[in-house]
Amino acid sequence: MVRQKRKLLVMESNKFSWQGELTSVQPRIRLTRSFDQRSHSYLGYTLGIKGAIDGNDGEFLIGIGKAAQAKHGFRVGDRVSGQSHPVLDNRLETAQFYKTSALKVIESSADDLNEPPPWLGVPPNLETYRERGHRRLDARSYKAKCQSCIWGCNMPVEIIIDHWNPSQKRYRFESFCYGPKSCPLYRAGRTRSVPGEKEWYGKRKTGSMSKILPTAQWMNKDRDLYDYCYISIIILDLY
Ligand code: SF4
Repeated sequence: MVRQKRKLLVMESNKFSWQGELTSVQPRIRLTRSFDQRSHSYLGYTLGIKGAIDGNDGEFLIGIGKAAQAKHGFRVGDRVSGQSHPVLDNRLETAQFYKTSALKVIESSADDLNEPPPWLGVPPNLETYRERGHRRLDARSYKAKCQSCIWGCNMPVEIIIDHWNPSQKRYRFESFCYGPKSCPLYRAGRTRSVPGEKEWYGKRKTGSMSKILPTAQWMNKDRDLYDYCYISIIILDLY
């Protein structure tokens, strides 16, 4: 345990200087799935950079907070620099580096904005993303066409697979689009299944737990049609 803490402290103290040209500025949002529920954490923005970090050339992703983006108004084509720590748990971040400081715009993008899609301007604030909501985006389309678009987002997803034991989790990444529904580049891709969801609905349909759990759903204000009908059935069943 002590060794683990020491290792974390050593990693925390490593701060890398970087600089380069922005290839993308996208929202940095984490998704938690728990059966039919989902919640989002709006962490800031992810900068895609082509340049050098710690003296090594390459492409890398840097996580920044929303205040830093509001201050600098980063957009594709800007030349920027900063210092960041390596991400400690890469299941929870798409970026490889975060906790960024000393951010500086070396040179603003001189390029005229392209004809969208993709949209390459300064992204909106996180409230706008929250209000617009997202739709599933095919992972291959995201990689091929949407990685530079301000409406694209590759989210780390934490999935609670056992409702009675929330420490049981799985992790993966899912891509989403917050952009206009008319975007010609949009492809939904295959439906994503959530581990544990089938078992959850299976348990709800049978056994005594089914009389208690929908009530908790109701209290959580999860009032989609399925739950509404289901609660009605249970109430009829009880009386
Ligand atoms: S599908 Fe969405 S993320 Fe991709 S280019 Fe269109 S608006 Fe942007």
